[in-house]
Amino acid sequence: MHIIEIFKSLQGESSFAGLPCVFVRLAGCNLRCAWCDSEYSFAGGRKMTDAQIIAEVGRLSPAGGLVEITGGEPMLQERELVPLMRQLISLGYRLLLETSGERPLDRVPREVHKIVDVKCPSSGEHLRFNEKNLALGPHDELKFVLASREDYDYAREFLRRHSLENGQTAVIFSPAFRKDAHGTRSTENCLLDPRELAEWMLADQVNARLGLQIHKYIWEPQLKGV
Ligand code: SF4
Repeated sequence: MHIIEIFKSLQGESSFAGLPCVFVRLAGCNLRCAWCDSEYSFAGGRKMTDAQIIAEVGRLSPAGGLVEITGGEPMLQERELVPLMRQLISLGYRLLLETSGERPLDRVPREVHKIVDVKCPSSGEHLRFNEKNLALGPHDELKFVLASREDYDYAREFLRRHSLENGQTAVIFSPAFRKDAHGTRSTENCLLDPRELAEWMLADQVNARLGLQIHKYIWEPQLKGV
């Protein structure tokens, strides 16, 4: 598999936010979201075998725990990734998969917690979502990264259209970050003010979690490998 980096940090997003987590970032992505903060993962990467990846995960987290498979788009390497995920599960790791939802997800082992992005108009990639991926398991999550009021309205309409407003599926609304954010650890780096988003959500009684990328407030937003 082609791997950009493997590192340990705190999980910054999802219902697992704040927990220690080993991140395995796979190379390659077939989308080009306007605000993408992982463009360095689009090409290159080091070729690693399953055994090398598992050894590095074990070195960083010898007592087991949380592992997130991310990218890029990890499912572009599905043929190798699915067996790797099975091995990590059998070793006792709790696995998260962060995916754009563009590739089919039906071969992902059911034990994996899928965090499926639904791209909104500001990303420029909102027409690429594979709606078959809405057949989610009970522990999966849907994430909307929002950069504008138009994105917020799009996300709400998406939830309404797919009967996802009842709270049975975990939904995250997350303000997009400036991809050139530098230096300060502040909400001024968000493309959409979290306070404004919180006020919209409260006024509209949206059944979703407001998710901040907490690693971008703990460490400087431009830092990689945290
Ligand atoms: S899917 Fe993720 S990695 Fe790919 S362009 Fe969009 S934000 Fe970047």
